[in-house]
Amino acid sequence: MIIKYRQEPVKIAGYEALLKRLPPTHPKRHAVKRSLNSAKAGFGGEERLDEAMEFFAPPYAHQIIRDFSLPAPFKIQVDTVVLTQSCVFLLEVKNITGKLQFKKNPSALHSVLADGKIMSYKSPVTQMNETTMRMYAFLKMLACRLPIISLIVIAHPSQIVEDAPHNTQVLSAGEVNYYLSKMKLAKPILSIEGLHRLGQAFLDAHRDYQPFPLAPKFQIEISEIETGVFCPRCLLVKMVRTHVAWECETCRLISRNAHSEALNDWFMLIKPSITTAECRDFIGLKNLDNAKHFLLKSGCKPVGSRRYRHYIREPLEK
Ligand SMILES: [Zn+2]
Repeated sequence: MIIKYRQEPVKIAGYEALLKRLPPTHPKRHAVKRSLNSAKAGFGGEERLDEAMEFFAPPYAHQIIRDFSLPAPFKIQVDTVVLTQSCVFLLEVKNITGKLQFKKNPSALHSVLADGKIMSYKSPVTQMNETTMRMYAFLKMLACRLPIISLIVIAHPSQIVEDAPHNTQVLSAGEVNYYLSKMKLAKPILSIEGLHRLGQAFLDAHRDYQPFPLAPKFQIEISEIETGVFCPRCLLVKMVRTHVAWECETCRLISRNAHSEALNDWFMLIKPSITTAECRDFIGLKNLDNAKHFLLKSGCKPVGSRRYRHYIREPLEK
């Protein structure tokens, strides 16, 4: 039974907003684009695993948590967790193009592209070992004695994998359902109620991974980021403020709330708080009163005394 589904990672929208607001010749565009592509590929791989497990009906009770993450002190991110009465499966999906080679001493994952170029990534084996250790610490906190079995899943069946380590199970997404369904599980440690309680404890502890703000991560200054409200239809064209709304002079689209997206961009890119002056300047509002009204209407909360007042937005969901 699936007890938590997967959503598109918020960082994809964040990278897209950052690209929209960086000038075409900005030197960091390449790095941001690379991050965007890798986030999209990662999500694509996870969706392939979800599809491959759509008809997962093993002969044992289980709970599936897609995209599980815990903040500090555990700092865990797992693509898919399968809880059973006998063990916990951790599935980590890799969606990397090229021929994959597992390297040792030191561990790394190389992908050899069609043109012979080699890209190097952190070894998924090292990553899984770290995640497994942290997950054991989390289970210990829950007073749960289940053993952990980790699997590395390659998103595409056509992917060539070389030198997969002997002590790590590497499967293609299409194999996972059969592999897990046929697995002989050890004698149950948890009762069915215990399994359900464990699933609930995972859901209670889960916090969506929070990657924002993005600009400091790329060492991009606020001054390098384009301000203003962009047309949702023309995408790269800025809108002008008319008396009551925003208007695109290219496509003539009129919108009353196009500036809400600009405020989202601020929180995704720049910092988790905003002052009325910053809001006025970033969005292009007429005055501080307009900015204050807009911030309050957008669900932002004032913090701090009058002189140092700034606004924050509480996360809408966990
Ligand atoms: Zn337009």
